Order: sequence, then structure tokens, then C-alpha cells
Amino acid sequence: MPDPDIAAVADFAPRLLAWYDHAARILPWRIAPGSAATPDPYRIWLAEVMLQQTTVAAVAGYFARFTERWPSVADLAAADDADVMAAWAGLGYYARARNLLACARTVVADHGGVFPDSEAGLRALPGVGDYTAAAVAAIAFGRPAVVVDANIERVIARHRLIATPLPAAKRAIRAALAPLVPRDRPGDFAQALMDLGATICTPRSPACTRCPVVADCAAFAAGTAESLPVKPPKKAKPQRHGRAWWIESDARLWLVRRPDKGMLGGMRALPGGAWDEPPASDDGAVSVRHGFTHFDLTLTLVRRGVEDAAGEGEWWPISALDAAGLPTLYRKLVDKMRESDR
Ligand code: SF4
Repeated sequence: MPDPDIAAVADFAPRLLAWYDHAARILPWRIAPGSAATPDPYRIWLAEVMLQQTTVAAVAGYFARFTERWPSVADLAAADDADVMAAWAGLGYYARARNLLACARTVVADHGGVFPDSEAGLRALPGVGDYTAAAVAAIAFGRPAVVVDANIERVIARHRLIATPLPAAKRAIRAALAPLVPRDRPGDFAQALMDLGATICTPRSPACTRCPVVADCAAFAAGTAESLPVKPPKKAKPQRHGRAWWIESDARLWLVRRPDKGMLGGMRALPGGAWDEPPASDDGAVSVRHGFTHFDLTLTLVRRGVEDAAGEGEWWPISALDAAGLPTLYRKLVDKMRESDR
């Protein structure tokens, strides 16, 4: 009897690629299968950094604005930090925007504006982790790298029926995926798996009857697809509280820049105290709740006098606050304040 895993390896990639050739999603950073165009590593890298922790739909507008304003890595490297941070506002995980700049500047200063073309070379750039290095190496440079994002993790955990809970399952998922990666078209292979996970092998109700690799999918055969991958139990997030200050003068608002290190580092923001205060009891005060990765924050807005507009900051016209590049947390607070003032 042949080992069923070996049999699956034999034609997994051809079946998947044949499906991708007609079902590939059309994405602004992507070269369509069969196209003679060469992928632009800058666009692939930018998209992969933006796509971490968020969705294609959320990224599309940001990607279009970034590439219009900074069409090459050299343009981005020469940009003002404040402009890039403001353009990133709303995408979250602001350390990534700072790393984005650091990486672009390293590519220009140390590599003549040309991205390294190997996984190891990419991994050595600031802010480029294992995932991004593998994805850019495969998609931009055709390297047979093992690319594992959340979509791919789900497809492989199901296809190979890996029932170990995450994150321990990651090692087994990589080991199962590695022999499937073809030397021919590894970038399309990675993107095909991403697309399969996003459109067919979805977290809920996967469309297995339309799946190009259903014939040897172990979870489909066992009827357990929807239960995989096994997620670790969710821990309750700590609840934190803080106050932001609304300091207004002459139809302008006092804004500061948050310290480079720490949450929302380098972003324009309302002034305020540390996020470790007791819960606010000011009845009727404007407040918002915002979920960060490791805690939930309730931020309450309090009015303060102009004497508190101290230190480094700037008076920003309230009518132009939309252009201030405030992160989502502060934008929600400002919107609520404007509504309550109506
Ligand atoms: Fe996912 Fe179903 Fe395809 Fe298996 S058959 S890989 S569970 S979509």
C-alpha cells in the first residue's frame, strides 16, 4: 500500500495550481497567473506587511494610496515619518508602519534600492519576520519557501487532519506543507493556498464540494473540517481605563504625538494620562471602548483648559481633524465628541 501522504504530495500542487489558473482573486499587488509581467518586490512586500492581522478589503484603499504617493521603495524611504504614520492611521499595529520605514531605508541605504532576493536576505531586513520573508521570497522571487499564513494554516490542518491545538500545531503544519511546495511556480502555489483558504476552505462552512484537493482531504473524509484547526481556549483580556483630554481654543484642538516606543507609538493623538487609571465615573462623559491585541481599553474624554496644552504639540483646526491621521481609537472618540456637541 502506498503511503497516502506520499500519494497526496505527488499531485497536490498541480491540482491546486490548475484551480488557481482560473479562480485566482484579482488583487492590486498581484500578477495574474499566466501573465508575462514580473512581480514588483516593493508592492509584494508592502501588501504583505499591510495584510498582517487584517483583511484584503481593509488593505485595498491603503495600498492604492501608498503606491500612488510613494511608487517605489526609494520614494517611501525618502518620505517624512509623520506623513507615513498619518497615511497608515486606521490600519492598526503602528509598530509595523515604523518598521516599514526602517525597512525601506535599509533597502535603499544598504542594498542600492533593490530588495534581497532570498528568504535569508529578506529576513535580515528590519521588521521582516519569517512569514513576510517567505511570502516575498516565493511571490516576488520564485523561491520555494514554505509560506504559512492563517488561511494556509487552516487548509493544511484540514487536508492533513492535524488535530493538535494551535499554536503547537504550527510545527506539524509546516512539516506537512514543506514537501507539497513545488519548485515550479512556488509563488502562485502560496497565493493559491491563500485564495483557497479565503474563498473555499473558509473557517465556517467550507465549500468542500468545489475544492480542488477534496479527493484526499483527510478532514473532509472524517467529517471534521469545520472543527480544524483547533484553536486554543480564549483568555479573557484585561480591561484597562484611561482619560484623554479635549483642550480647545479658537476652534482648534491641542494634539500631541505619542512617544515612539509603546502603543500607537509615533502617532498623532489627543493628550492624556497613562492607560492605568481606575474606571471613570463621570456620568454622561464621552468614552469609547477599543480592543488591542492584549487588552481592552475604555478611554474617557475630559475637557481641560488651555493651561494643560503643555509640552510638544500643535493646535489643529477642529474642522480639519479628518486630515490629522488620528488612529482609530482617537478618531472614534473625536467623532463621538462631535456628535454629543450637536
Ligand atoms: Fe478545506 Fe474542504 Fe478542501 Fe478539505 S476539502 S481542504 S476541508 S475545502
